[in-house]
Amino acid sequence: MTDSCIPANDAARVHALRQLGILDTPSEEAFDSLTLLVAGIMEVPVALVSLVDANRQWFKSAVGLSATETPRDISFCTHAVFEEAVLVVEDASADPRFADNPLVINDPFIRFYAGVPLYSTQGFILGTLCIIDTRPRQLSDSRLRQLTLFARQVEQLINLHQQTSALTRQVEKTQAINARYEATSKGLAAGILRINGKGSILEVNRFACHMLGYDEEQLSGKNISMLMPANWGNHHDGYLQAYQQTGEAKVIGLGREVQALHKAGHTIPVHLAVSEVQSEVSRADHSKRQFVGILTDLSEIHRAREQQRREQSLLEVLHQGLTDYHSLLSGNTLWTFLKDALCRLTGSDYALIGEVVELDRLPALKLHALTDLSWNEQSRQLMRRLVSGDMTLTNPKSMLGQVFAGGHVVLSNDMLTDPRGGALPAGHPVLRRYLGVPITDRGRVIGMYAIANAASDYDQALVDWLKPFTSTCALLINLYRQINEQKEFTEQLRDARDLAEQASQAKTEFLSSMSHELRTPLNAILGFAQLLQNSRDPLPPRQQRQAEQIGRSGRHLLSLINEVLDLASIESGHVQISVEPVLVADVIADAVELIRPLADQQGLNLVEPDISHAQLYIMGDYTRTKQVLINLLNNAVKYNCEHGGIRVECSSSQGNCRISIHDTGIGIPAERLSELFQPFNRLGAESGSIEGTGVGLALTHKLIRLMNGEIGVNSQAGEGSEFWFELPLCDTQTVSPMPNVSQNPEPVHSSCHRVLYIDDNPANRKLMQDAFTLIEGMQLILAPDAETGIEMACSDDPDLILIDIDLPGMNGFDAHAILQRNPLTRNIPVLALTASFTQANKKRALESGFVDYLSKPFDWPLLRQQMHTILEHRGGR
Ligand code: ADP
Repeated sequence: MTDSCIPANDAARVHALRQLGILDTPSEEAFDSLTLLVAGIMEVPVALVSLVDANRQWFKSAVGLSATETPRDISFCTHAVFEEAVLVVEDASADPRFADNPLVINDPFIRFYAGVPLYSTQGFILGTLCIIDTRPRQLSDSRLRQLTLFARQVEQLINLHQQTSALTRQVEKTQAINARYEATSKGLAAGILRINGKGSILEVNRFACHMLGYDEEQLSGKNISMLMPANWGNHHDGYLQAYQQTGEAKVIGLGREVQALHKAGHTIPVHLAVSEVQSEVSRADHSKRQFVGILTDLSEIHRAREQQRREQSLLEVLHQGLTDYHSLLSGNTLWTFLKDALCRLTGSDYALIGEVVELDRLPALKLHALTDLSWNEQSRQLMRRLVSGDMTLTNPKSMLGQVFAGGHVVLSNDMLTDPRGGALPAGHPVLRRYLGVPITDRGRVIGMYAIANAASDYDQALVDWLKPFTSTCALLINLYRQINEQKEFTEQLRDARDLAEQASQAKTEFLSSMSHELRTPLNAILGFAQLLQNSRDPLPPRQQRQAEQIGRSGRHLLSLINEVLDLASIESGHVQISVEPVLVADVIADAVELIRPLADQQGLNLVEPDISHAQLYIMGDYTRTKQVLINLLNNAVKYNCEHGGIRVECSSSQGNCRISIHDTGIGIPAERLSELFQPFNRLGAESGSIEGTGVGLALTHKLIRLMNGEIGVNSQAGEGSEFWFELPLCDTQTVSPMPNVSQNPEPVHSSCHRVLYIDDNPANRKLMQDAFTLIEGMQLILAPDAETGIEMACSDDPDLILIDIDLPGMNGFDAHAILQRNPLTRNIPVLALTASFTQANKKRALESGFVDYLSKPFDWPLLRQQMHTILEHRGGR
């Protein structure tokens, strides 16, 4: 064969041939019968259906030839294919195209050949139907026509073969799809339902049957609506019809959560995804539409969701109970909150919660909250009484009693037949399920709760799940009790305080009236005793002694009355103290000066402190500090021994100044030290000869406390005692600096003005004195208390009075009032100085006629300026 025998479209032709899928297929009876028939009718030994491939001719059917194919280049058919025409070679040996062809020269020694082209449906030549003989022959027209007809027949067979193979392939594919679908639908953990357009079930898988409780036969052919709850099933047909008419999808093509109806009657939450089965048939005929629904069982997911929701609600209840307990308790909503939470958490219709109390030494249940299950007026009243706490439950054998008295969890899901539950009164709502749980704290039942009539059975798992709730209840009950106890305690405390205040008030009133009642006759006693002692006609010695005794006893009584009154007024808060810098050396010197004669009288050695230490300033009330010192020194003298000693010491540490009075006296037994500072307790001294009232130390103690100080004692019986007290050291900056008059010398008045300064604090008096030495034309006169000051105001006619408001005894306000009433002093300007400055007092002072009201430590230039202004206004002397 030469290249000239290859048609121009050979590639496409070969492609078309191969597409038929016929090459190299097994022999087929239809082809073989035909070739056999052709060979017989044509009376030839060889008949072939030859298909011309790219490089070979392959025989789909061959009669009289054992070869299945021969190379294309030696084949006769290739010529017919090239020519696209019937090829008849009567004697190949005489035909120059084939004379040297190996098939001619050698076996099968072809001489005659006739081939009719075979066409594909697209018009490509595929090969030939040919007949061959080993001897030269001629082909008549009729024979050629016959062969041509046979060739058309072969073409039909080739077509049929192609269709069959395509069909087979399709069938195989479908089978594979079906197998896959079956495997999927069987193995899938989802229900699959196929329905037609009317909703009839055509197919249902095992999973769906199992899920819905049916057998396959029970569902096949039935309407899908039987698997839906009534309200949804009715709509479904409508949806299906609407979709088919309008294409508007409510279910189809969309996945959604719906309820499926189980054969047993309950519903199952499912996810339903429906899709239309698209097919030629259904497209052509709408009545043949089909739908596949995939049902996924959501029960587990729902259960998990429900569980999660319950856990969440439990946590919320616990959280609110623990964080809001205060408002719950104070608003008295705790119990209702817990009861409602119980119903909600357990899905129960009824709940109660109560506290276990003791009644006649037996446990009783005091109900705090209870779901109202009253059914008539009588039961309503009973419930009210139960919840109000008027009534408690005590029967230990009842369903509640077994819990609060027995401490058991009581659980019943069939109360109607449960032998433990007694008969309920007529009208009482039916209780089917019941769960009672004790609330315990450290092994003791402190309360209980009970729930009834949940939708599903109660079980131990629920009791376990409620454990955090139960413990929270225990905690809240304890808190509730503690808060109530606290409330009661506070009320008791308030009552006690009111009582004490009333008693104290009564005592104060009693003491002040008593003091008046006592002082009046005492005045007469003391006066007459003095008159008797100092009468012109001396009394006989015995009566003299008796008069002295009357005087001594009277004075003792007076000091007792004074101390008791002092104590009473401190206790009732009537004592005003004026805390200001006090120079320790001053106050000690002042007190010692008073006591020294007494000590000398008793031959006692009284030693004052090292002056360097005593230069400290403390914050205290000068007069009250002096009073403390005098009391302690007085005791040190009284309770000393012959030729004993008294030593006053002063030291400072940690911001405090400590003043101690050591004595070498009788000391105090250790076991009685705790009784010191108790009013009227003389620690046994009342049986001795030393006079005393037993009030001094109590008073001292109170005064020190009033000044924010501490007082204490170290003592040894027979050896002596050390009484000490501490008062805060003064911040040196608050002590007035020495006024520097020369800094800003003022032109002083030529004439001399007298200024009276009334202050109990010697340090302040000293300060003022020093300041005045630097001012010309002003003379300072001093008074240590209000009484002296008033006297001096009358006698010395000062031009200006500076008065400390916080004077002991009569204070500055009272003294000013007296001065104003006296015509001698009425016109003298009075300027107030105070260590306890308040705006209210300043207002009061200005309203009552003071020229000004200045706070201590005072600003010297300002004070000096003020004095000048006042004195200038008053005019010189
Ligand atoms: P009294 O008026 O009895 O002295 P006080 O209140 O001053 O009352 O003292 C109470 C009691 O403390 C005294 O009666 C005495 O027994 C005891 N006491 C006080 N100071 C001393 C002291 N320095 N040494 C021994 N005992 C003392």
